[in-house]
Amino acid sequence: MILSYVYKLRPSGSQSVKMESWLNMLRSHYNWCLADRIETYRQQFIQGAYCNLRTSSEAYPLTCCIVKNGATGNPWQNSGKKRNAGTIQDAGLVDLKAARPWYKSIDSDVLQRNIARLNTAYKNFFDGRGFPAFKNRSNFRSFEYKPGRVKFKGVLVYLPKIGWMRFFNSRPIPDGFAIRSVTIRRRTDGWFISVRLEDKSVPMATPRPTSEVKTAVGLDMGLTRLVHCSDGSDIPNPRFATNQKTKRTLSIRQRRVSRAKKGGHNRKKRVAEVAKLHSKIANRRNAGRRQVANKLVKKADAIVVEDLNVQGMVRRCKPKPDEGTGRFLANGQSAKRGLNRSILDASWGELISKIQYVAEKSGKVLLKVDPRNTSRECSACGHIDKANRDRERFICTECGHFDHADKQAARNIKHKAVVEYGLKLIKVPTDCGKPKQLCLFETPSTELTVSKRRKSGAQSSKRRVPGNLGRQLELFPQGI
Ligand SMILES: [Zn+2]
Repeated sequence: MILSYVYKLRPSGSQSVKMESWLNMLRSHYNWCLADRIETYRQQFIQGAYCNLRTSSEAYPLTCCIVKNGATGNPWQNSGKKRNAGTIQDAGLVDLKAARPWYKSIDSDVLQRNIARLNTAYKNFFDGRGFPAFKNRSNFRSFEYKPGRVKFKGVLVYLPKIGWMRFFNSRPIPDGFAIRSVTIRRRTDGWFISVRLEDKSVPMATPRPTSEVKTAVGLDMGLTRLVHCSDGSDIPNPRFATNQKTKRTLSIRQRRVSRAKKGGHNRKKRVAEVAKLHSKIANRRNAGRRQVANKLVKKADAIVVEDLNVQGMVRRCKPKPDEGTGRFLANGQSAKRGLNRSILDASWGELISKIQYVAEKSGKVLLKVDPRNTSRECSACGHIDKANRDRERFICTECGHFDHADKQAARNIKHKAVVEYGLKLIKVPTDCGKPKQLCLFETPSTELTVSKRRKSGAQSSKRRVPGNLGRQLELFPQGI
């Protein structure tokens, strides 16, 4: 079983200065290695002899590039085997430390892991992801130790070449788990250490095969409510970044940044304020999503979601040029911007990945289905029509089936999974004998709720919160 724990570090002043300087050096090392690989790769296409402009030495293509995505250095091992780019650059670390002695202050494992990071970036590229990017201050914030180098003792952690450092021991490392890799990361609110723990004797919970799934729940993600479940329940959308209060605070803080003098100390402070708010929002969202995921996974053996393409949904509108004047016409982007922000704030993808994590841990399974027509199809007769849906209402134009649009979509999603994955579900009797819908339409009388509140207030012996209930009743006198 593999776990990953994150702790907040409490470095001393000199320790945080040291880590900061390590990050700067490692970043420039990473960028140099990347540039080196790009350069040597290009050299293989040069025909004949050429001279290097910088060193004005003559070079021949056959002596230059031997390995794909190569690196400058000896391409052969002592054993006669070929080196790959990563091992060439590993061997080059000796030269680097000789030429730039300040790199000696960095632990050699950390330097090697830095090259390994570039190897991973290249591996991802060959797997079809993007080409490795040059890093700047904002996207290069971490370094890594190899397994077995870092020691934990109470509230202290030993980091090689940095020393013993205090940390907030928020939860103990469970017995029997070995420390795999350790990553130190700088965030806006301080330094953090994330530890990967592994216990080989504990197997990972095996996901249930789809043939054994007894119950399933379909989820429809939305904005007015975050999730609608096929069992009729829903979960509210807290809008962590796009609620009125946060939007206002953010715009005030951003305005303060723009009014501060560029390059000044005050501007730095104002930027830090904006970053702090963003990290606060991220923390809240993270915690909220985790709670929701735990709640949803408890519902059934299989959790069914739509395979959404969020990136495609938030794409910008195409610019619309006016052929006569060469200027640009309105293309609806400014109207879409708010929607895009709401979609990104809802972070459905993050919720799905959290659900997947919790599901895997508890031996349940996450199923994805094609999102096509889930909100247009009638769950009663299967009729597909765009006109079926009128915002939140769903009325089938064929059979007259009436339902809440999103709940209906959730039911369709569940049904799709049953068909696509061949699930054999059993019927679960509902807890209440009365159908839920009937309760929904019953409007409780005011007198009843008032007496209920008074009663509960007296029983709990807490201070009764008066609210404005009395005043509200006065506003609407009985005579009218
Ligand atoms: Zn119908």
